[in-house]
Amino acid sequence: MHNIDIDLVEMTLDVMKYAINRITNVSPDLGKPMKEEELKALAGETITADGIGGEKAFHLFRDKLVKATIPIDHPRHLAFVPAAPTRAAIMFDLVTSASSIHGAFWLEGAGGIFLENEAMKWLVSLTGMPEGAHGVFTSGGTAANLSAMVTAREKWRKERSNEMERGIVITSSGAHSSIKAMAKVIDADVMLVETEDQMTGEMLQARIAELDTDQRRRLFAVVGTGGTTNAGIIDDLQGIARICKKENLWFHVDAAYGGAALVADSARHLFNGIEEANSITIDPHKWLFSPYDCGAVIYRNMELAKSAHAQEGSYLDIFYDEGANGFNPADYQIQLTRRLRGLPLWFSLATHGTKKYRWAVERGISLALLAGRLIEEHPELELVREPALSCVLFRRRGWTPEDYKMWTYRNHKANIALVAPTKWKSQGESQTVARFCFINPDTTEEDIRMILNTMD
Ligand SMILES: *Cc1c(COP(=O)(O)O)cnc(C)c1O
Repeated sequence: MHNIDIDLVEMTLDVMKYAINRITNVSPDLGKPMKEEELKALAGETITADGIGGEKAFHLFRDKLVKATIPIDHPRHLAFVPAAPTRAAIMFDLVTSASSIHGAFWLEGAGGIFLENEAMKWLVSLTGMPEGAHGVFTSGGTAANLSAMVTAREKWRKERSNEMERGIVITSSGAHSSIKAMAKVIDADVMLVETEDQMTGEMLQARIAELDTDQRRRLFAVVGTGGTTNAGIIDDLQGIARICKKENLWFHVDAAYGGAALVADSARHLFNGIEEANSITIDPHKWLFSPYDCGAVIYRNMELAKSAHAQEGSYLDIFYDEGANGFNPADYQIQLTRRLRGLPLWFSLATHGTKKYRWAVERGISLALLAGRLIEEHPELELVREPALSCVLFRRRGWTPEDYKMWTYRNHKANIALVAPTKWKSQGESQTVARFCFINPDTTEEDIRMILNTMD
């Protein structure tokens, strides 16, 4: 498979040319999903006994199949949580792949893991957590949340001499779906603090007071959100931290989307209290301009994570010399073999400097404020709530849920934008509203106006 022949050289040039074209194309066409049968008709048989050849396979992807995907970095892709990896980060993603490094153990990955750790130290420094706090890059926020929850649960069980009881986690109704999903994985129950805005310490205290004795005994963790995915709402982290301390509960902050705003002077104060957390999730692949996939879990006490996650096996017994037994990323999260997925972030940070990151995140926040002003000026539009972080929720007067859906389809089909409605609960009533989430610093005022004009 490693014979260098002319075909391979040609294909390498083709692939490099594609990669360079793609990352310099700042407004790629918004592709559209197709039915599986349609894709099959386009692709034909690709997995054959003799292979169809790299050139044919690559052209199939480049000219046909990639058109059935939506570029997440398009400046008018404002649906869900988009992404905008830097060119430096993407280029280094290629370098990371080409370098074939096993990222689980220091023994094999020392040079790369060291650099991942440099990027991680910067992330940790944003949180204000004390000396000793550190983290590890994961496949995303879901894996980071799971890793943190397993650590919390193991600590709780140990303290209760391994009693095999189902745990309970309290979080808010605005928490990300992965909290409930990962609670299933660890077989814990989730109890919600129902709130349309932030979860406060008082609300948490009141929810705990409602638990019966058995439930209170099973309660082991609270998950606060550092920027809800839907609306950018940050819980009262200080208030929650205080209650967690008093009640001896693990405090996890899920800041997968919003955590990037720790770097922004205009938003940093909203996260006060995050430094008290036992663990934090931040996704560099959301608002820190890393390519998929890259999440991060940060722990106040790394030893607790290690005792929850370190895997044992005779074939995993790495011995070499003292120096080779350094930091093993496999010990702190759920995955063993792993890509050095923090390296693209490291390279991009090293290339651009942290000030550029501050600027780029502030840019997302100002775009949200700008969109808010333009919405207020528009005769048919109104804000549902003030923009928070880089999220804007707004309504078009008179529109039904069907109208919002058609708006999404129309804009997508016309290659104008990918914008999508969401649900917003106000005074107990769930409504369909429009939503923007800004990540890409290249989005312009013109882009926002262009989209708002489609709502006249
Ligand atoms: C996106 C998100 C997640 C899930 O992260 P993935 O990287 O998609 O696994 C978890 N929590 C919050 C708050 C998020 O915004």
